[in-house]
Amino acid sequence: MKNFLLGLVGLVVLLAVFVAGNTARVSRVATLSTVAAVAVPVDSAGAIRRLAGAVTFETIAYEEGTRAPDSAAFRALHEHLRVSFPLVHQRLTRDIVAGLSLLYTWTGSDTTLAPVVLMGHLDVVPVIPGTEREWTQPPFGGVVADGFVWGRGTLDDKVSVLAALEGAEQALRAGFQPKRTIYFAFGHDEEVGGSGARALKAELVRRGIKAPALVLDEGGAIAPGALVGTRGTVALVGASEKGFLTLQLTVRGTGGHSSAPPPHTAIGRLAMGIARLEESPFPLVLDGPTEAMLQHLRDGMPYGQRLALSNLWLFRSMIANGMAAKASGAAMLRTTTAVTIVSGGVKANVLPIEAKAIVNFRIRPGESIASVTEQVRHIIGDTGVVLEAVGFRTEPSKVSDAGGTGFAAIERSLREVYPEPGLIVTPYLVTGGTDARIWSDLSTQTFRFLAAPVTADAMSRVHGTNERVEVGGYLTAVRFYERLLRNTDGL
Ligand SMILES: [Zn+2]
Repeated sequence: MKNFLLGLVGLVVLLAVFVAGNTARVSRVATLSTVAAVAVPVDSAGAIRRLAGAVTFETIAYEEGTRAPDSAAFRALHEHLRVSFPLVHQRLTRDIVAGLSLLYTWTGSDTTLAPVVLMGHLDVVPVIPGTEREWTQPPFGGVVADGFVWGRGTLDDKVSVLAALEGAEQALRAGFQPKRTIYFAFGHDEEVGGSGARALKAELVRRGIKAPALVLDEGGAIAPGALVGTRGTVALVGASEKGFLTLQLTVRGTGGHSSAPPPHTAIGRLAMGIARLEESPFPLVLDGPTEAMLQHLRDGMPYGQRLALSNLWLFRSMIANGMAAKASGAAMLRTTTAVTIVSGGVKANVLPIEAKAIVNFRIRPGESIASVTEQVRHIIGDTGVVLEAVGFRTEPSKVSDAGGTGFAAIERSLREVYPEPGLIVTPYLVTGGTDARIWSDLSTQTFRFLAAPVTADAMSRVHGTNERVEVGGYLTAVRFYERLLRNTDGL
């Protein structure tokens, strides 16, 4: 017994030495950034004015089948861009695709090189009915006040469109000519399915594009580290995004009078299926982009967490469970299940003939529409609950390679204009959806990032009330694009 205990103590000591050794070894691998800051001159007042101007056009994407987009508003925005960026419109070719989407072509000096695609979208979500009076500034006023540009689209996503064109205008003014062809692809209906983005991609594929050297769309941002459990500031660059699936659950009943009911009505049976689904969430899996994110964040963390992250072989499930304590953390680790609509029954004394529920799943990379559907069938375990996929659906996107030259160019450009010591630039899994997913099959360098500091407070305003971007943050985004355009030469 004593020998056994001694052996155990010896094993624990050995393990501790090994674990600590791993922590030290991994930390030494991390190198401090050696990128030098670059001063990018920007016409700040003009840039702010042009973004504010773009906000005033009500380019609202309405839910499918409700209202057509106001094409005059989109055309007015096109015209605003034309007037705002004269050099871009002189030197680049502009095509209108799918009626209201925009494609700019900046032909490179070496057209044999793989091109670059910079994306964004011109449409915005509507103001939530009933919240109009809660806006401090009118949502389409284009007001600049208190250090912010206010209004719909200032974070999602006119900010990307304007910053990219502003960066291009500035680079052109300074005489820059890219080696690679650079496309600006701005869809007009990202918020309602993204037919514009698909048409833009189809047009580029028709022109012979095979594998872009870099595709950049909205998605991540510069965020306070606390958001992901680390110190300092992090730049979250989306390397993949989750899939989307909505299943309708239907239970048919026999109907009849409620005075002689069966043990379970259609509603009861449906409720049991829903309860089983919620009681058996999809497994937490710490891998892919989320594991890559934790590896990047490790050096900004206190010793205990660093130790755990350097020894994933031992602490993987502990870390996953810790992250999953927050809904946003869990969303990065599992396919999520959200019961969003339920209906059934017509009268208090009539047995329901039918009960229905709508359940929305966000599928993590590694699973699929088919595997999730099969798993749901298995969890519910009742053939009387009929499953049917409804509405928009998409598989999780391929995971981009954060070790590639595209990611490196994003990181370099950001550090050049945002030289904060201790800034960690990391890939991560986007738990929502962007148009970028349609490119992930063609380019392993497809990323999602807005180079502006965005706080948790700002994030809650996206699709919500009082959307606004901090003036300094917007100018960072402009400078970032100016550098990124130049850095595409080194891809
Ligand atoms: Zn968006």
